[in-house]
Amino acid sequence: MIVPLPQTSPPAPPQAARLHVLNQTLDELTAALVAIGQTKFRARQILEWVYRRGAADFALMTNLSKDFRTWLDQHAVVRTARVSRESVAGDGTRKLLLTLPDGADVETVWIPTDRRHTACISSQVGCPVGCRFCASGLDGVERNLTAGEIVEQAYAIQELINKTAPACEQPAAAADALDTAPGEHRSSTGGRLSNIVLMGMGEPLANYANVIRAIRILNAPWGMGVGARKITLSTVGLPAQIRKLADEDLQLNLALSLHATDDGLRRELIPWGKGVPIAELLDACRHYFDRTGREVTFEYVLLEGVNDRPSHAEQLARYAKRVRANVNLLRYNPVPGLDFRRPSSEAAFEFQRVLRERGVNVHIRTSRGADADAACGQLRRSAKSK
Ligand code: SF4
Repeated sequence: MIVPLPQTSPPAPPQAARLHVLNQTLDELTAALVAIGQTKFRARQILEWVYRRGAADFALMTNLSKDFRTWLDQHAVVRTARVSRESVAGDGTRKLLLTLPDGADVETVWIPTDRRHTACISSQVGCPVGCRFCASGLDGVERNLTAGEIVEQAYAIQELINKTAPACEQPAAAADALDTAPGEHRSSTGGRLSNIVLMGMGEPLANYANVIRAIRILNAPWGMGVGARKITLSTVGLPAQIRKLADEDLQLNLALSLHATDDGLRRELIPWGKGVPIAELLDACRHYFDRTGREVTFEYVLLEGVNDRPSHAEQLARYAKRVRANVNLLRYNPVPGLDFRRPSSEAAFEFQRVLRERGVNVHIRTSRGADADAACGQLRRSAKSK
C-alpha cells in the first residue's frame, strides 16, 4: 500500500503532542496508523521492534520505509523520560530517577536475583497517602502518571538489564534472541524482565484507569509480555477499587499494605486511610480472593516499639486467616529525618513465629538496596534537595 506521507513536512509537533508509543495498545496504534494511510500490520511491526528487540529509535526499524521512519521520528516518540540519576547498592539493586518532559521525577528500581529480574515501579509523582514512615509521602502528590509513563519505567529497567546483565545469565537467550516467541522480550545480552511490582511512589488505586491500562500493556503478548501472575499491585486500600479490580478479569497479585492491626494505630501511621476501617478492607480483600482465586498478601512493615508486639502478631494472624492471606514482614528501612527504628532480626523472627504457629504463610522479606536510597521516595528527595 502506498503511504500518503506529505512531501513537504509541516514542522514537527512538540514532544508532548506526539504519539507516545508506550502509551498505546495494539488496537489504538493500529487505528492511528491506519488513519494516516498505513497498513494494519505496521503497528505490530513497530511494537515488535520496541518490545521484543528493544529498539526505541525509529531509525533502527529497517523493515519500515525511510519516509515512514522520518514521519514517525517527527510525530511519535517511544520514550519520553531521561534517566537523570542512578544509584547502585552493594546487593546489585539499582534505582533510577526518571525525569519526565514536565520536569517531574519518578523512581523505579531494578531488583535482580538469581532467578528473576523484578522492576518496582511508581504510579504517581509523589504520593497522596503520606505514611508517616515513608519518604515518598512527605511532599504529597504532584500528579498521576499516564499509562505510558508507568510502562516506560518497566521499559527503562529492561534496557538496564540489556546493558548490565551478563550474557551467561541466560545461556539460551543470546543464541535465540532474534527468534523468541511474541512478547518474550529477551535481549541479545541475556535477561528479561520477569516480575513487576507496583510498590514504588504513589497509590496505584488512586490512579485507577491509567494503572489498569498500563498493566494491560505490560501484560500483553504484543507489549512487555510479563505474565499477570508476575505483576503485583500494592495498595493501602480503597475498598471500592479493590472490588472493581476483582472484576477486571486480570490474574494480578494484590498486596495490601496493612502495617497496623487496629484502626487507631493505622490512622496514625497512614493518615490517608483514616476513613477506612480495617474490617472493610478485609472484606474487600476476601472478595478479591473469592472472585479471582488469587491469594492476597498483607504487607506489614515492622516498626520497633510501634507495631511489633506479640499481641499485634496474634491479631494479624486472625486477619490473615479470615482473608486466607499470606503475610510479608519487612523490617523498616530507616529514612533520614523520620523517627522510626528498625527492629532487630530476632524480634522479626519472633513476630514471624507467632504467625507461623497459627498456620499463617508468612515470610520476612529482606530490604534490598538499603545503600541505594532504595526506600521509596529517597532518591527523589535527595535529588530535590540538591
Ligand atoms: S509507603 Fe507507599 S503508600 Fe505510603 S506514602 Fe510511601 S509510597 Fe505512599
